[in-house]
Amino acid sequence: MDIDRFEVEIDCPGCGFANPVWLGQARLRDVVICRGCKGNIQLDDSMNTVRKARQSIRRSMRESREAIGRLNRRSR
Ligand SMILES: [Zn+2]
Repeated sequence: MDIDRFEVEIDCPGCGFANPVWLGQARLRDVVICRGCKGNIQLDDSMNTVRKARQSIRRSMRESREAIGRLNRRSR
């Protein structure tokens, strides 16, 4: 799984609009244009976005595995 293509939401420091960005952009400290105020958002990962996103990806993958496991048990 290429987690750089995983989409996360970054809150604009200016207007608070949640902008979808790829994890790869955050990792590379890219600059994105806010869809709310059109301002530049420098992704400096000061909020540990990538680390937190990795944790939530791991959690969601575990949860989906468990959900699939539950479905499999139910269908038997
Ligand atoms: Zn903004």
